[in-house]
Amino acid sequence: MVQRNVCRNCRILVKGNACPLCRGNDLTTTWAGVAVIYDPAGSQIAKEMGVEAKGTFALRVR
Ligand SMILES: [Zn+2]
Repeated sequence: MVQRNVCRNCRILVKGNACPLCRGNDLTTTWAGVAVIYDPAGSQIAKEMGVEAKGTFALRVR
């Protein structure tokens, strides 16, 4: 299984070489856990993570 890139700024899983949210390329493959956010405004997990967008996010990023 290939470890996907995660943006260090947003913690979102990134398919290419640039983050779709911040357009940055500060990516890492050192992360653990996944949270899928469907409703950022109503999600407790999203609030705790400071996430304001839909998507698949890593729970821990180093
Ligand atoms: Zn980002």
